[in-house]
Amino acid sequence: MVMAPMIELRGIRRQYGGQGGQPAVEVLRGIDLNIHAGEFVAIVGQSGSGKSTLMHLLGCLDRPSSGSYRFNGRDVAHLAADELAALRREAFGFVFQGYHLIATESAGENVEVPALYAGLRAPERAQRAAALLGRLGLADKLHLRPNQLSGGQQQRVSIARALMNGGQIILADEPTGALDSRSGAEVMALLHELADAGHTIILITHDREVAAQARRVIEIRDGCIVADSGTQASPASRPAPGARLGQGAAGALFWNDLREAARTAWRGMRLNRARTALTLLGIVIGVASVIVMLAIGEGARRQVMERMGTMGTAILYLGSKPPAAGGPTGQLTEDDLQALRELPEIHRVLPVIGDPVTVRHGRADKQLYVFAASEEMPAVHHWPLAQGRYYSAAEDRDLAPLVVLGHKAWQHFFPDVARPLGRQLLIGNSPFEVIGVMAERGADSGAQDYDDMVFIPYQSARARVYQAQTQPDYVVVQARSSQQVHAAEQAMQRLLLARHGREDFGIGNAAARIQAEAATRRSMTVMLGLIAAVSLLVGGIGVMNVMLMTVKERTREIGIRVATGARQRDILRQFMTEAVLVTWVGGAVGVLAGLLVGAALIAAGVPVVFSVSAMAGAFACAVATGLVFGYMPARSAARLDPVVALAGNP
Ligand code: ADP
Ligand code: MG
Repeated sequence: MVMAPMIELRGIRRQYGGQGGQPAVEVLRGIDLNIHAGEFVAIVGQSGSGKSTLMHLLGCLDRPSSGSYRFNGRDVAHLAADELAALRREAFGFVFQGYHLIATESAGENVEVPALYAGLRAPERAQRAAALLGRLGLADKLHLRPNQLSGGQQQRVSIARALMNGGQIILADEPTGALDSRSGAEVMALLHELADAGHTIILITHDREVAAQARRVIEIRDGCIVADSGTQASPASRPAPGARLGQGAAGALFWNDLREAARTAWRGMRLNRARTALTLLGIVIGVASVIVMLAIGEGARRQVMERMGTMGTAILYLGSKPPAAGGPTGQLTEDDLQALRELPEIHRVLPVIGDPVTVRHGRADKQLYVFAASEEMPAVHHWPLAQGRYYSAAEDRDLAPLVVLGHKAWQHFFPDVARPLGRQLLIGNSPFEVIGVMAERGADSGAQDYDDMVFIPYQSARARVYQAQTQPDYVVVQARSSQQVHAAEQAMQRLLLARHGREDFGIGNAAARIQAEAATRRSMTVMLGLIAAVSLLVGGIGVMNVMLMTVKERTREIGIRVATGARQRDILRQFMTEAVLVTWVGGAVGVLAGLLVGAALIAAGVPVVFSVSAMAGAFACAVATGLVFGYMPARSAARLDPVVALAGNP
């Protein structure tokens, strides 16, 4: 019975170079070779004869320049990248002269790597790795790193790794080359054992003595097969141990892979603490400054809003003044005010007399600003009372001697009296009765001076306190709405100009001033926000830099992972995960740092308002930065040529 060969090479050629003016070097020059399942083949030849090149082709790590390679009857040239990865993963197990273990992972974890890409679950993986290492006499070395193991032990770990997914075909490239004779003999004994168990062994060596131990010896010289002892009549054909692959649900596998990638990434970050910390710093500063800048901006905005709320967003001030052209100061008469009240844009007109006057209670006296206006004052200023009531229009008309206290005035005159209503104050020389206390405006309203005042009816002020005064010091005018402030200002201007015939009055627009201030602050915030965004960008570039370095440093690891069956997307995912993890941690620390800085600012009295959406946004930006700036290095890692990567020189 003639069984079809498992591996069939026809006219395989492989040349290097030949581009960019370099002469092409042909390393394999027409290899024809059949290998059946269960054979134990040694390929022997001098150094430089092309053995490793042949092994890389056999193991689907490399493609021939010409010729055909059929594996189990299928032309490998027609397989897609992922199918090749599957073949490497499920059919082949590599053992290299230099062991090629991942330096940062323990012996057990190294053995687990191929199963990772085959989708075996973590507990089964660990169990199988431990069993394999136990079988190879390394049960107690499970948790040691490669640099804590001897050469012979490392080679046994790499054999265990080759067997992890079944290792139907073991491709061993000079497996004893770096070992002392005793360890070398042990490794050879192991290969014999595996051959007896039904594995196909392809052993590459420059040592004829080693080669002689195989059942079939093929000699290669200058890229050609020069001798072949031939296939034995019937290779001890026990069915080769197949791959035992766990196949979880696709979703579970995805999380499995992601967790694994995160674990590896976390380990990488810990191993390079200083570098990671510096990279993180960029992200942390970026995220924290975005958060703090936005919080300060929002705090300032709220402050302005609040001030506009307390002062009223629709307030205009009107006063008389000498005209620019010279002449006497104008008079604002009661008729003028009445005409203003009739303008459609205007809601309220509040004439005010206010001056510092000596106010007395018992033996306490103080110069206080005595604010005389109509009963509309609280409505115009959106200012509620804390106690008692405000005087009415009728009381104003009747010259009632009533006073309402500002918060601080209350504290000054009646520090021990919870409700000073009904008490008497001497304003100037006239007694006034306290009927109310205004609510506190507080320091951040921008109008805390109002807390220091007392408020009396306009008419009684003129009759009892400001007798000399015939017209208001100024007039507070409230437009119908904040949108109509401008229109109201223009209407007032026109009306008064018509009535007076000259500009002997001035109009102040408080709302416009506050709005201008708000706009300035806004542009300031935008600028600071931009600076913060730039620092986030710089942080992202830092991530890219570190990722590029990481990929460079770990090319050999990437080669190992590809040789053990990683798909391009596995490599891509791993490096993307690392980039995202760095920025994720950086973002989280940045949010914390931002909160701390903000708290410090609040303690220092700066108005700061945190916004959850700003924090979430900054955090998301950081992670997006990781995705964007991590992609390029991760892709270059995924696209590395496995043979080049294994050699460790990208
Ligand atoms: P062996 O494993 O038998 O020692 P190799 O297969 O490693 O030999 O190399 C065979 C020849 O191919 C050597 O002369 C080597 O210099 C050359 N070679 C191997 N890889 C490359 C490469 N990437 N580019 C150019 N030449 C290469
Ligand atoms: Mg070699």
